[in-house]
Amino acid sequence: MSRDDAESRRGQAHAKGLYPAPLNAGRSRNMQANRRSDTKPEVSLRKALHHLGYRYRKDLLLRLPETRVRPDIVFTKRKIAVFVDGCFWHVCPQHGRKPTTNEWYWAPKLQRNMERDTRANTALKEAGWTVVRIWEHEPLEEALQAVRSALD
Ligand SMILES: [Zn+2]
Repeated sequence: MSRDDAESRRGQAHAKGLYPAPLNAGRSRNMQANRRSDTKPEVSLRKALHHLGYRYRKDLLLRLPETRVRPDIVFTKRKIAVFVDGCFWHVCPQHGRKPTTNEWYWAPKLQRNMERDTRANTALKEAGWTVVRIWEHEPLEEALQAVRSALD
C-alpha cells in the first residue's frame, strides 16, 4: 500500500468517524515518522551493525508457541531479538506521555501496544530468546552497545 493510499484510506476513516483527525500538520508528520518499519534510528542501527560485520535478519516473523513476533533485528543462531521502539507508540517514560486530545482513541491503543510488547517479551524469553529493547531516542552508540553486550 503506497503512502497515498494510506492517506486516502485514513481520510475515509475520518469521514466515518473511525479515526481522529490529525491535530495539525506537525503532529501528522510525527505520526508518519512513527511508522512501524524502517524508522530512522532502526535503519541507523542496522547499518552500524552491518558495518561492524554483524549479520542479522530484518523483520523476520518468529512463530513462537504462544504468539507470533516480528522483531526489528534478529540474530537467528544466537536467538537474540532486537526491537527499536518508537517513543510514542510504545510509551517511552521520557516522551511517551499519553495524549490528552482524542484520549478515547489513543489510550486503549497505546495500552494494547504496551501489553503486546510485554507478551512478546515473555513469549520470547520462554522460548529461550534474549530480548533487547531500545528506545528510538537512545543515541546510536548506546543502542549499538546494548546489542553488542547481548551478543558477547
Ligand atoms: Zn523517548
